[in-house]
Amino acid sequence: MSDEVVIVGAGIVGLAVAFHLQGEGRRVRLVERGAVADGASRGNAGAFAFTDILPLASPGMLRKAPKWLMDPLGPLAIPPSYLPSIAPWLFRFWRASRPDRYRRSLVVQGELMRVAAAAMEAMVREAGLGGHVRADGNLQLYESEMELAAAQEGWDQRAGAGIEFEHVRGGRLAELQPGLSPRFVAGTFTPHWKTVDDPYHFALALFDGVMARGAAITHGEVTELSPTEPGVRVTLRDGTVLDAARAVLAGGAWSRPLTARLGDAIPLETERGYNTTLPPGAFDLRRQLTFGGHGFVVTPLSTGIRVGGAVELGGLKLPPNFRRSEAMLNKAAAFLPGLRTGGGAQWMGFRPSIPDSLPVIGPSRASRHIVYAFGHGHLGLTQSAATGRLVADLLADRTPSLDIAPLRADRF
Ligand SMILES: Cc1cc2nc3c(=O)[nH]c(=O)nc-3n(C[C@H](O)[C@H](O)[C@H](O)COP(=O)(O)OP(=O)(O)OC[C@H]3O[C@@H](n4cnc5c(N)ncnc54)[C@H](O)[C@@H]3O)c2cc1C
Repeated sequence: MSDEVVIVGAGIVGLAVAFHLQGEGRRVRLVERGAVADGASRGNAGAFAFTDILPLASPGMLRKAPKWLMDPLGPLAIPPSYLPSIAPWLFRFWRASRPDRYRRSLVVQGELMRVAAAAMEAMVREAGLGGHVRADGNLQLYESEMELAAAQEGWDQRAGAGIEFEHVRGGRLAELQPGLSPRFVAGTFTPHWKTVDDPYHFALALFDGVMARGAAITHGEVTELSPTEPGVRVTLRDGTVLDAARAVLAGGAWSRPLTARLGDAIPLETERGYNTTLPPGAFDLRRQLTFGGHGFVVTPLSTGIRVGGAVELGGLKLPPNFRRSEAMLNKAAAFLPGLRTGGGAQWMGFRPSIPDSLPVIGPSRASRHIVYAFGHGHLGLTQSAATGRLVADLLADRTPSLDIAPLRADRF
């Protein structure tokens, strides 16, 4: 048996896990069935959303969902053919939205985000990725004072977790983002939110870093992880067998078949998200803008202006419906008069999502030498370094810096 740790999946989470394990002197091998960072990690909105601690599964979301579902191209959609498949997940989401469970998830998310911010800062520094990071915050926008008032409870909860923000209007709003449609009367600025120059470039730079530190990569699809004494056998579809000391499953939205074979029934689904990336200079965008009432963000990247978000609970197999990208782009054109909407590239990605809005980080039922690291939903880039740190703790048999009981696979 080799002393290697095999990491299934070379998305941002697998790469951050590799980086942290190398930091402890471990040899790592990534196994990736496609191209590196070509899953959800490629085209996301690029935010280190450290202040985004409110679980999606919330009483507020249950209030908003019926209205959003009425609009077939709105922020939330369920293709009718997928409704029977996703019904059990929706039921769990509804249960996780109850006030007591919501409050529990909020506390856990707040703690995880504290680790996420510190771990990301350290990883960016140590991997020399500082040039990829913009620290100019996020501006959330409201079309009425009533909309801001409705959001206040969430801001109070963030304040309780020590998160800084500033409600802005008038001149201050225009200073933070000139050229907004006058329909936006107020905003909330969160200064400690960061974005990357382009999430794909960020992930590839991290990949280059882990390869330079001696990682190996095998291209192929893992079909089985099985415990051996004393390690893990990793079997690939082409018949290759890798005998490793430990394995980490970071397969994003595609992780479920491997967990099922290990005896873990994990309610992992995908929230499909859409965007359009316009050429650079399409708008004089000062920082990332969140149009919370419409479920999308506009992000300044080195590669262009990215307009996107939305949630489509449509599973892994249905073809993309790029009318969703167009619907968000049309709204963005109305919200940012002068936005040049030509020449964009559309994309759809699969967020790996768990109904309680928390990732799965912890040992498998079958073996503590097989550790799970997936299910980060809307926050995988943000929480990638924290996941790397927690997985490194678990594989070293150290007590992690936060209680992982609410993140473990056996919580379901
Ligand atoms: C529109 C959109 C916007 C988003 N915006 C943000 C944001 O601003 N900030 C943020 O933090 N997050 C954001 N996210 C979420 C974020 O993109 C994901 O949470 C994150 O990329 C998940 O990373 P991952 O490494 O787990 O998965 P992925 O990037 O999907 O990587 C998983 C990898 O595992 C490989 N794989 C799977 N199964 C196997 C197997 N059996 N064998 C071999 N390889 C396998 C896949 O090929 C893939 O490369 C957004 C997502 C979307 C869709």
